[in-house]
Amino acid sequence: MFQQKSGGGGGGSIMALNVFKFCTFLRALGSIMIFFVVGVIGLTYYVIVVENYGPALFNGGLDSFVAFLVLLFFHAFLVMLVWSYFTTILTDPGGVPQTWRPITDEEEGGVVDPLVGTDQSTAGLVLNKDQMQKARFCRKCNQFKPPRSHHCSVCRRCILKMDHHCVWVVNCVGALNYKYFLLFLFYTFLETALVTVSLLRLFIAFFGDGEIDGTAGDLVATFIAFVLNLSFALSLLGFVILHISLVLANTTTIEAYEKKTDPRWRYDLGRMRNFEQVDQVFGTDKRYWLIPAYAAEDLKHMPALHGLEYPIRPNLDELQEL
Ligand SMILES: [Zn+2]
Ligand SMILES: [Zn+2]
Repeated sequence: MFQQKSGGGGGGSIMALNVFKFCTFLRALGSIMIFFVVGVIGLTYYVIVVENYGPALFNGGLDSFVAFLVLLFFHAFLVMLVWSYFTTILTDPGGVPQTWRPITDEEEGGVVDPLVGTDQSTAGLVLNKDQMQKARFCRKCNQFKPPRSHHCSVCRRCILKMDHHCVWVVNCVGALNYKYFLLFLFYTFLETALVTVSLLRLFIAFFGDGEIDGTAGDLVATFIAFVLNLSFALSLLGFVILHISLVLANTTTIEAYEKKTDPRWRYDLGRMRNFEQVDQVFGTDKRYWLIPAYAAEDLKHMPALHGLEYPIRPNLDELQEL
């Protein structure tokens, strides 16, 4: 009934080779980034808990109270960021099921051949833009691409609602782990901001009375931790704001780039309905919004975890009615 043409190989081998090398580099970089993140967390933990605010807990008075609050929030954010981080790394971002086919026209009942660009039941028909959009095909995977999915050269497969390939989480950020990635950004921002302010307070005290409690090594460690956390906090603030605006506009990072060339964005549903689709990212159960997990009811709609339906399709049907 349906014939699929092989799309592999072909020209551009020199370019492909360079891209391949770059992707190999990104893949190799992967595990190093995890060690880097764990290293920064370790250093920060030492500076905040062991070196400064742990001992300050026993100073008495206001010092103890401030130390208690800093340590409480530091550990709470730390648990949440580590949880979100490893959930993002370990969750499959969402591959395209082997059996996925573009939605066919119910009246015609035919299948669109994306390579020839004709519907087999109505041969010779020129497809309109919507139909072409439905029939996207990935030559590298030799498979149909659902709307909003993209091929990732690092992962070597198509990813559902791909946002970007993130070297920090050594994974693609796609339909199934985007929420976890957002929470990772959010909690890492809160943690690094808290650490920056807490260490700044120590520096001000240090320059105020010139007293040094620890060794020179401790002071260097504190300074490095401060610079690292300050830089993370500033850049994460930018990313948090960027992703909030993307979620509210129902747009992925990749689509935001595409949008620049195509001014009429197909997924932008208008402010009110965009806001309603936030549920699709965070889940319908609001008690789960701030943790990297979904309620059982929402998980039923997660295809890769349960092998069930593809979540973006019903939404697309809805869009086509607009
Ligand atoms: Zn692909
Ligand atoms: Zn990827």
